Amino acid sequence: MTTDTIDKSCADCRQMNCYRQDKIYPKFCLTEALDPAEREDTLEIYKGDGLDGRLARAAAEVEAVYYGKLTRVEETLAFARRIGAQRIGVATCVGLIEETRRFAEVLRLGGFEPYAVLCKVGAIDKTAIGLAEEMKVKPGGPECCCNPILQARLLNAHKTDLNVVIGLCVGHDSLFIRHSEAPVTVLVAKDRVLAHNPVAALYTAHSYMKRLNDEDRLKGL
Ligand code: SF4
Repeated sequence: MTTDTIDKSCADCRQMNCYRQDKIYPKFCLTEALDPAEREDTLEIYKGDGLDGRLARAAAEVEAVYYGKLTRVEETLAFARRIGAQRIGVATCVGLIEETRRFAEVLRLGGFEPYAVLCKVGAIDKTAIGLAEEMKVKPGGPECCCNPILQARLLNAHKTDLNVVIGLCVGHDSLFIRHSEAPVTVLVAKDRVLAHNPVAALYTAHSYMKRLNDEDRLKGL
């Protein structure tokens, strides 16, 4: 695919004039191409008193007040406070249970009520959902699958006000977010290779992670 034939989007923009309006919009600009009614519609949502408006203003306030001062753990508490959340659901991963315990302590100290559900809840063996025994990380014994739908349902039943994702797998997080009734924020994006710092692969794509430029390899993933 040549650069002329790709469907250009914000990833191809070097102007980002939509931010401070101090440059010019590119020809393919998504803001310029917008139907004004669509822009107006989102504006009305953000201005409104509904949940979306409250989430939007709380997020912007946390960004403005604490810019560069708070860790994401702390920002999560500040955001939860501003949306009036009390019960904080935690959808967590078996590999991050120690960090989840710490986070629950922090939440309690902050005056919140944490309620965590582990990814393996329900204890359904991977073979029961159609995976071959050799697709287990350690074949030859019980190994339960992640159950993000049940994680979401249990948090829904607990009537959590905000759900926090800690290290759910790629795709399991998609299922959890689809089934969660409360708004979801991600505290930890799992990356088993990069200590849960996935952007490090992009920072080093010109050096240690040159394999990210290997078209044949990427097409085979
Ligand atoms: S909306 Fe327009 S100006 Fe903003 S990043 Fe996208 S293409 Fe660039």
